[in-house]
Amino acid sequence: MKTLQAVRGMHDILPSDAARWQWLEQRLAERLTAYGFGEIRIPVVEKTELFTRAIGQGTDVVEKEMYAFPDRNGESLCLRPEGTAGVVRAVLQHGLLNPPGLKVWYQGPMFRHERPQKGRQRQFHQTGVEIFGMETPETDAELIAMAGRLWRELGVDHLLRLEINSLGDREDRERYRTALVDYLRPRVDRLDADSQRRLETNPLRILDSKNPETRSLLVDAPRLDEHLGDEARRHFERVTALLDALGIAWTHNPGLVRGLDYYCRTVFEWTTDALGAQGTVCAGGRYDDLVEIQGGRATPGIGFALGMERLLALVESTGQQFEHRPHAYLVSSEAGAARLGLAERLRDHWPALRLITDLQGGSFKAQFKRADRSGAAVALVLGEAELAAGEVTIKDLRGDSPQSSVPADRLGAELRRRFATDGPDVAASGEPA
Ligand code: ATP
Ligand code: MG
Repeated sequence: MKTLQAVRGMHDILPSDAARWQWLEQRLAERLTAYGFGEIRIPVVEKTELFTRAIGQGTDVVEKEMYAFPDRNGESLCLRPEGTAGVVRAVLQHGLLNPPGLKVWYQGPMFRHERPQKGRQRQFHQTGVEIFGMETPETDAELIAMAGRLWRELGVDHLLRLEINSLGDREDRERYRTALVDYLRPRVDRLDADSQRRLETNPLRILDSKNPETRSLLVDAPRLDEHLGDEARRHFERVTALLDALGIAWTHNPGLVRGLDYYCRTVFEWTTDALGAQGTVCAGGRYDDLVEIQGGRATPGIGFALGMERLLALVESTGQQFEHRPHAYLVSSEAGAARLGLAERLRDHWPALRLITDLQGGSFKAQFKRADRSGAAVALVLGEAELAAGEVTIKDLRGDSPQSSVPADRLGAELRRRFATDGPDVAASGEPA
């Protein structure tokens, strides 16, 4: 029978890739925890209504990209296209905004029916953070500073550029919307088809159009930043002043509107030139109305989501090493308890030891071949001669150190000594026996 293939735009993460995912996930989790965020894990499937309500009609995500399907009882469900709506649903459902003031992060797959291409998949992964109940400009600034620190820790800060804008408050956007429609309506014939439709449904989205003719029309269009009310303007000035004080470089992009409807005031994106066309790695903003839209008590919110595939690609472009190659591979002519016993004693001695026991057996030649393929630094040889002498031979598989024999009861100490400088994950754990 023909073997089946994965769904287009949805990818397996194989063991050979998983090390880099773990590497990144671990660093993100540590950093977010250190800033006081708690992890939240929510379902991958939600009611479709959640997303249409939160994200908004006339957005790409709701109009074209949602994986919505009828459940067996006829209710419309949806594979989540993003995380924020579900997080808001969860924190309201469980009363976590009472009292207000909550910082959470999430991580996991998102689903959008887009045209698959480099940097764009139908199942992709995001790590996101949300802060509820804090409306100060300091909140926006610290969130951005945290992201900046992440980029430094991942060694990609020199590849990313921060763009920031203010979308104002709801009334500001309504005034602007009128001005924009007044400007575009007489020029409607020159708009692309999507933008013509959006002129009626969601005119601000037109600012996001990638169509060159539409873009050239927008050059002389009224600007959102000229329609900000005093409060939104002060907020933006304070955020950018704080960024300056913290030494964080930013540029104001008045055309930055973001793809989802729920944003207000501060919006921001980190983009790179290093990944080709899909250069937005992380994006977010304030959503002070979203909790109320979802039926909660009015509570300000702000967050961002970063695309894991794109961030990983960026980290890889710097030559970062992710792999945890095994320290040692145990080959043995002895099929019984001696080799497993030796391996377990070594692990008792040094829990962080990355040791692979050859379980397939056969000739030494075959075992050495597998040892080599495993990437291990050394082979530990337990042959008949070694067994008789109570020793183990250490054979260098990568360099040309001479092979040496070590009494079996000193082997753990010897391996630790050899690999002690092999990164903090190794040196930190385990006590000498
Ligand atoms: P884009 O303009 O690239 O479509 P977006 O505005 O739709 O992005 P957001 O909803 O802000 O994206 O999602 C945050 C991040 O998630 C993006 O900056 C990107 O890194 C990542 N992302 C979004 N859609 C995809 C996708 N289809 N494949 C891979 N990563 C994605
Ligand atoms: Mg998109």
